[in-house]
This record gives sequence, C-alpha cells and structure tokens, in this order.
Amino acid sequence: MSEDNAFENAKKQLENAARLIDIEEDELEVLKKPKRIIEVSIPVKMDDGSIENFTGYRVLYNDARGPGKGGIRFHPDESLDDVKALSAWMTWKCAVADLPYGGSKGGVVCDPHEISDRELEKLSREYIRRIYKYIGPDQDIPAPDVGTNQQIMGWMMDEYEKLVGEHRPGVITSKPVEIGGSSGRNESTGRGVAFMIREAADRLNMELDGMTLAVQGFGNVGRHLVKSAGEMGMKVVAVTDAEGGVYDSSGLDFNELEKSVDKHGTVVGSSYDSITNEELFALDVDVLSPAAIENVITEQNAGDIKADILAEAANGPVTPKADSILSDMDVFQIPDFLCNVGGVTGSYFEWVQNNYGYTWTMDEFRDKLDKKLRQAFAEVYDLHKEKGIEMRDAAYSLAVEKVLRAMRIRGEI
Ligand code: GLU
Repeated sequence: MSEDNAFENAKKQLENAARLIDIEEDELEVLKKPKRIIEVSIPVKMDDGSIENFTGYRVLYNDARGPGKGGIRFHPDESLDDVKALSAWMTWKCAVADLPYGGSKGGVVCDPHEISDRELEKLSREYIRRIYKYIGPDQDIPAPDVGTNQQIMGWMMDEYEKLVGEHRPGVITSKPVEIGGSSGRNESTGRGVAFMIREAADRLNMELDGMTLAVQGFGNVGRHLVKSAGEMGMKVVAVTDAEGGVYDSSGLDFNELEKSVDKHGTVVGSSYDSITNEELFALDVDVLSPAAIENVITEQNAGDIKADILAEAANGPVTPKADSILSDMDVFQIPDFLCNVGGVTGSYFEWVQNNYGYTWTMDEFRDKLDKKLRQAFAEVYDLHKEKGIEMRDAAYSLAVEKVLRAMRIRGEI
C-alpha cells in the first residue's frame, strides 16, 4: 500500500483502534465511510478573460454528535481522498475534546498563490454558491485550513448571508473579528499545540524552560506555535517553510522570522544558518513539530528522529508505517487530532459567541482554551497509561467510542 494515500492511512488507523474497543465488524464498515460527499465544478472568469473550471469538494464524514465541522483547504494537490481523510480526522478531533460536533472537510483544487485576489474572491464565493444548501450553523460549519485564511472566510460568510438573506455569522468560524470572528481564534491552533507540549513535558518530567523545539512549517499554525512556545520559555532552534529553513542553536527570534516573512515571503531571508526539512527532522531536539501537511514523516525518515516528543501539529503528518517505527523508538507522540485540537476548540468558542451574541476578551478566550485542552490531554494520557497503549490508540479509542455511542443511541447503527 502506498504511504501517500491519506484516506487509506486514516482507515488503517481506525482499524488499529477498533481492535481496542467493543465494536462489531459491520459497525466498523459504517465508520470507514463518509456520510455525504459533494463534488462541484466551479467555473471562474479569470482576469485575462479565460475561464478556468476548478473542482471543489465538501465531505461530511459523520454528524452523530452534532453538525459537521471542519476547514476548507485550497491546494493544487487536493484530492477527494485527502478531503475524506481530513473529514474523518475532524470527526475524531471534535469527539476527543468533547465538542458538540461531527466532522467534515472541504477542498478546492487550486493554487491560491498563483491567482489574483480578485480571482480568489470569485472562486471562494462561487464555491459557497454551490454548497450553501449543505452548510449552516446547525448543519455543517467550515473554517480555514491550508491555503485559506480569515479574509477568505469573510468572503464566504458574506456570500452565504446574501444567499440566505439574513445574518448567520455562526455558519463559518475563524472570520475577521470585525464581522463576528473571535479575537483568540486565529492563534488558537498554534497556541494549543504549545499547551499540549507543556502538558506532555509535565507528564514526562521535562523542564519547559529552555526546552528545544524544531518546527516544520511557518503558516498560521507554525507561526503561532513558535510565538507561543517562545512566550512559554521554550527555545525554538529551527524552522522551515516551503522555501527552505533556518537554524540557530541559541534560539531563533520570532520577530526576526516575522520580519523576514513580511519582506521575502519566507523565513529564509533572515540572517540565520540554513537548514533543510530532512535535516530539521533529524535534529537532536527535545520536541519536533511537523506543522504543515500530511505524510511528511514516513518509513524513510522516521528512524532519523532524535526528538523525545513529536508534537503533530499538522493533520496526518505521520504515516502508519512511520508510526510503528516511532513507537518502537519510544518517541512520545502527541497524535495530530489531539495535538492540534486547539484550532477547532477556538472555532467552537467563536460559534458559541456568534449563536449567543457574546463577546469574550482575549484573556477569557485563552483561559477557556487552556482548560479545555488540559482536560482533553489528561483523558487521553490517563487512558494511555491505564491500558499501556500508544497515545494515538488512546485518542482513537476515546473518540471512536464517543461517536459509536452517539450513532447507537440515535439508532443509526
Ligand atoms: N482546519 C482546522 C483543523 O483541521 C480547523 C477546523 C475548524 O476550526 O473547524 O483542525
């Protein structure tokens, strides 16, 4: 089996977890399939007058515990199988943190960096026109993911509201604050990963202050992880992005990295030594965090990892084959859908604020996030200890059991 098919990997992980819980074979077959798949074609008149026909997806994996929840990815290599895998992971992610949601995901096959802002806005609005009957605050709630951002969420929400003829800010989360976004949401995925590392360090009796960290990816997640980790006393020694990477054993300065990104669009322009992704993965650091895309830690490079903690900030960064290598090596893994659950937890707070018309200060938001994530980590960690199983298996067992219970109670299975 190729290690690259994210949906095959997601099903493999589910099968592994199924061995640990009380589940019938036919129930497992139901859980291995998304509930609904929508594929749309999206013709857009480009700036030069030509028409480009983009393909978009929205997959609702499961909604037994509540409305679907999950981001929209704009990426040239996006495929239906990727979106299916990501929607499955959203289902387990929302369940593991006890958020009242199911799981879903959307994607458009496009390179957002290669098209103009005008074209991007048209594409975002046209995508929503095609799926708007299947999303909504009580039905399925999108958010950003790789290649999308708050501005795109703003256009999408605006298009949705025009179509339904009323204000419905709870239809999409991680919007700009001016139109109903929450102040803490944008940083919440990266900050949440830093909180998870703190929890892991605590259980492993490692001193947080001065702990070394290497981060692959400097998008929304990586950037806020680097910032929050620095604020919490950790020392970020290496960061890579799509253009390359930088390294300094005495620690990288977040503001320097930001300046470089503002000026050159990448961390590479700063004055630090350069480093490749593969070198970053093999660094002798306390914590390694892949914070970009899936399948970056494979059978080929897993054996090179020297970090004590692997904080899986991206979705699906470790293939199942790499996973078993890492467990033999005793690397403490914070599995992806636990590690990055801060993002959708922040989305949940925003959705509650929208539905009730509340506003919370940044401090209140961060406090709530911290509490929720401490609890999610503790539940998974305790099960991992109690049953002597891997953290990923513990997270999967908890999440899948919750989804199963909801489906059984509803009489769906
Ligand atoms: N795209 C993010 C994730 O994969 C956030 C999803 C959300 O907030 O709905 O967790």
